[in-house]
Amino acid sequence: MSLIRSPITGDAIREVADVTPAGLDDAFDAARAAAPVWRAVPPTERGRLLVEVGRRMRARIDEVAELETLNTGKLVADTRREAERAAGCFEYYGGYADKVVGSVIPVPGPFHTYTLREPYGVVAGIIPWNVPYFFAAKKIAPALAFGNVSLLKPAQETPLTALLLGEIVAEVLAGAGLPGGIVQVLAGGGELGRALVSDPRTDMVVFTGSARTGAAVGSAAAAHFAPAALELGGKSPQLVFADADLDAAVAGVVEGIVGSCGQMCIAGSRLYVQAAVYPQFLDRLADRVRGLRVGDPRMAGTQVGPQVTQAQADKTGEYIARGQADGGRLIAQAELPTAPELAGGYWVPPTVLADVDPKSPLLQEEVFGPVLAVDRFTDEVDAVELAHRTRFGLAAGVWTGDPGRAHRMAAALRVGTVWVNTYRILSDLVPFGGVGHSGYGREGGADAVGLYTWTKSVWLATDPGVPSTYGKG
Ligand code: NAD
Repeated sequence: MSLIRSPITGDAIREVADVTPAGLDDAFDAARAAAPVWRAVPPTERGRLLVEVGRRMRARIDEVAELETLNTGKLVADTRREAERAAGCFEYYGGYADKVVGSVIPVPGPFHTYTLREPYGVVAGIIPWNVPYFFAAKKIAPALAFGNVSLLKPAQETPLTALLLGEIVAEVLAGAGLPGGIVQVLAGGGELGRALVSDPRTDMVVFTGSARTGAAVGSAAAAHFAPAALELGGKSPQLVFADADLDAAVAGVVEGIVGSCGQMCIAGSRLYVQAAVYPQFLDRLADRVRGLRVGDPRMAGTQVGPQVTQAQADKTGEYIARGQADGGRLIAQAELPTAPELAGGYWVPPTVLADVDPKSPLLQEEVFGPVLAVDRFTDEVDAVELAHRTRFGLAAGVWTGDPGRAHRMAAALRVGTVWVNTYRILSDLVPFGGVGHSGYGREGGADAVGLYTWTKSVWLATDPGVPSTYGKG
C-alpha cells in the first residue's frame, strides 16, 4: 500500500494498493493475450475508440484538474491545461491510427517490394511524478493507435489521475467488447518499474524520468533487446540578447523556472544575459521574483505551488545552500506562505543566485526546483559555449529581436527543442525529446509512428522464373 499525501498541506489523500510480483505476472498474461486481439482491430476502429476516450476525458477535465492539483500541488491553471492536452492526445492519435502507411520501393528486377509498419506488442510506459495525467495519455494513446497494448506505471507519489485515466480507457474498450489487458495502469514504485522493464515479456519501453533511472532502464531493456525511448532531465539555458524585448524575456524566464514549482524537465534553470543589459535585466528579474505569490495552488492569484514531497523540497533547499557555498550571490527570493493551514506543505522559495561557480552541482545537476542561476555573456559564440556547459541537451530559450540571430542560435544549440521569444510551449503535433543525458527517442507528431512501430520489408517475385539468388549481396 502507498499512502498518497497532498503536498499542499501534507495531509493523506488516499491509500493505493501497489501491484505485487504475482499481480505483475497476471498483468503480463492479460497484456499478451490482449495484444493480438487489439492488433486485429482495424486501425480506423481503433482510432474511433481513442477519439471516444478523448471525448470522455474532456467531460471530466474539472474533476481531473482538481485531483491532479491535490496530488501534485500544481496550479489549477496548469493541471487544467494538461488535462485538456491529455484529451487532445487521444484525439490526435485517434485521428492518426489509420494514416500509418508503408511504402513501395522501386528496386531493380522482377519484384514488388514494400514495407509494413508493425506494432511491437506489449509496450511498458513509465512516468515521473510531475505530469502524471498527461504523461500517461502521451504513453498510452500513440501506443494503442499504432496497434500495441500498454502497461503504464505512474510514479508512486502521484498515481491517482493515471489510475483514473486507466478506468476511462477500460470503460470505452469494455463497451466495445474488448479485453481489459489492452491498457493496464500498474501502481507501484521503482521495484515494480525495474521488474516491468527487465521482463522479456515487455517488447518495448517508453520511459520519462531522471537521467540516473533512465540509464538503468535503458540497460535493463537492452539486456533482452527491447528498444527503449528515454525522455530524461535537463539543465536548460535561457539566453537573453541585448536586442530582445526585455519585458517579455523577464516574464518568460520567470515562468520557465517557477512553473510547476520548477518541477519540469524543461525548466530553464540557467540564465545567461548579454553583458550590455545584464544589470538592468537582473533588477527587473529580482523585482518579479520577489513579488511572486507562493501558496495554495487551488486559489486564484497563486503563482507558485509547493514541491511534490518533503524529500524533494529538502533536496532543492540543499541545492540552494550548495549554490551559495559555491560563490552564489542571492539576487532574489520569494516569500513563503504563512497561512497556518498550509504549514504542513512542502514549500520552497523561488530563488535567483548569481556568480555561482560553473562547476557547482547547482549548475551541473538537475535540481527540479524553482532555482535560477544567472550569469552574463559577450556574444553569440560565448552564449553557445555557456549553453553547452552541461551534459544535458533537452531545451533552450533564445530571446532576441534579430530573426537572423534566432536562426543562427537555433542551428548552433545542441538541444532537442529551441524556443525563440517564448518558452514552455508544447504540442503533441511537434516531436519532443533530448540529446546527451537528456535521453533519446522522440515522442510527438509523426515521430511517434517511428517510435511505436518497426519496419518490415516484403519482397515478392513477380516473375516465377526469377532465381532465388537474384541480386544477392
Ligand atoms: P525517477 O527517474 O526517479 O522516476 C521515474 C519513474 O521511474 C517512476 O515511475 C519510478 O517509480 C520509476 N523507476 C524508478 N526506478 C526504476 C527502475 N530501476 N526501473 C524502472 N523504473 C524505475 O524520476 P522522478 O523523480 O519521478 O521525476 C523527475 C525526473 O523526471 C526529472 O529528472 C525530470 O527531468 C524527468 N522528466 C523528464 C521529462 C521529459 O520529457 N524529458 C518530463 C518530465 C520529467
